[in-house]
Order: sequence, then structure tokens, then C-alpha cells
Amino acid sequence: MILDKITCQNCKHEEKLEKVNYRKDSKIFLANLYLRQKNSEQEIYTFICFSCNHLTNCTPGLEYLETYKYDCTDNFVNYFDIYGYKNQFENLKKHVDNYNSTGQFDHVVEKFKDIKK
Ligand SMILES: [Zn+2]
Repeated sequence: MILDKITCQNCKHEEKLEKVNYRKDSKIFLANLYLRQKNSEQEIYTFICFSCNHLTNCTPGLEYLETYKYDCTDNFVNYFDIYGYKNQFENLKKHVDNYNSTGQFDHVVEKFKDIKK
């Protein structure tokens, strides 16, 4: 199976993986926020879908795990509690700010601003 697409597990929005974080029309942003499950050594990535404002945890091989809304307060007990929150929305936002020194993620920053609290 060739992994060339990433799919939001809530609204099924699909993006080409190639340059998914860099394309200005992309509605998905994917990052490694260094989450770890308690029973696995596997790296867990997190992505947000700006079409429906849901986040999804997944493996690097795109096995999809938890999907939750950006303001979800659920605790995922199968994860190490690195940041104190299981909801990675704020961390993802910070991650984008941290890696945006050259303005390459300005379009992502704008999409975060569009999400109404
Ligand atoms: Zn979606």
C-alpha cells in the first residue's frame, strides 16, 4: 500500500501527503508532538483537519488512532501524560508558531485563528 494520502477520520477530508504542511490550500497539518502510548514504543503523530477542526493521532505508517474535536476534554489513559493534557490542540498551535520563523506556516497560523473559541 502506498501512503500518498492522509484522511481526516471525522469528516473524511483527504489530502495528498506530499507537502501537506506547506501547501496553502491544504486543510491538514501533521506534526510529531512526541506523544507516547504506555504500552508501545511507537511514535505517535498528531494532525488537525481545518475542515472540521478535529485532531487525529496516528502512527507514522498512518494507522489512525484517536480522533477528537479541538475543544475535547477527554483523557486518553493509554498515553503518557507528558504535557498534562491529552488534547493536543494548544500544543499543535505552539508547534506551528515555533517552526514558523521564516513565515512558511503563516497560512496555518491563519487557519488556527479562524477557529472560534
Ligand atoms: Zn475533518
